[in-house]
Amino acid sequence: MEGPWSDLIAKLFFGSLIVVAVAELLWPLRRPGHRFGPRWFANIALGTVNLLLARWLVPVSGALLASGAGLGLLNQLSPPPLLAIGIGVVVLDSVAYWTHRAMHAVPVLWRIHRVHHTDLDVDFTTGVRHHPIEVLITLAISVATIFVFGLPPQAVAVYQAGRAVIDITSHGNVRLPSMLDTVLRLVVVTPDMHRIHHSADRPETDSNYGTLLSVWDRLFCSYRRAPKLGQTGMVLGLREWRDETAMSISGLILMPFRSPAASVDPE
Ligand SMILES: [Zn+2]
Repeated sequence: MEGPWSDLIAKLFFGSLIVVAVAELLWPLRRPGHRFGPRWFANIALGTVNLLLARWLVPVSGALLASGAGLGLLNQLSPPPLLAIGIGVVVLDSVAYWTHRAMHAVPVLWRIHRVHHTDLDVDFTTGVRHHPIEVLITLAISVATIFVFGLPPQAVAVYQAGRAVIDITSHGNVRLPSMLDTVLRLVVVTPDMHRIHHSADRPETDSNYGTLLSVWDRLFCSYRRAPKLGQTGMVLGLREWRDETAMSISGLILMPFRSPAASVDPE
């Protein structure tokens, strides 16, 4: 993604980080149960590694895609540009949904993805807490999807712009009026919807996989409207990973290759 689009996506991403951070100060939903400092340091350090990785890989992906220019389904069908953008967003988001679902269902992928789920609080920094291997896997799947479907660059840019906002806002520890949450949730993933996915209760962890659009969970029967213990009562993180000292930046990088030190029931 070149030029004005990459500038816009970067502005939306960093703008969302600032807006959600301020909103968490003004209208926090949950009282954080763990120290900010070490969590934020580890999450932001991991996010920085991922940003650098993406910066290096995006030109490689662009070159790969350019080699396939003119190929793919949409290039054969040639729909009107706006329809092609709509199809692109829907295709990319449905693939993101199924990729996320596979990350929970396949043990070796779960080892990598659980780094995101071991955050003991969920806030504006959690959205960038992903293991670099997960970033590589999702990027490779996205490139393959763009290639096979022949998605136009504008569709990819619109989708990335949406993700830049929702990836951050959906992790916000922000109290939204329930009416606003209900209306927004008809279309996109809201903080109250996604927070359930960070519940330590495994059936709740294995629900609400959507990343941008909320429709996929409803369509594929993984939707949960509310957590059993309520938004402020539920325990966040994973039951088997409660040791904060194991969650330094090096601890998170090595986490896929380790087993939990001890199983601790948070309730
Ligand atoms: Zn997940």
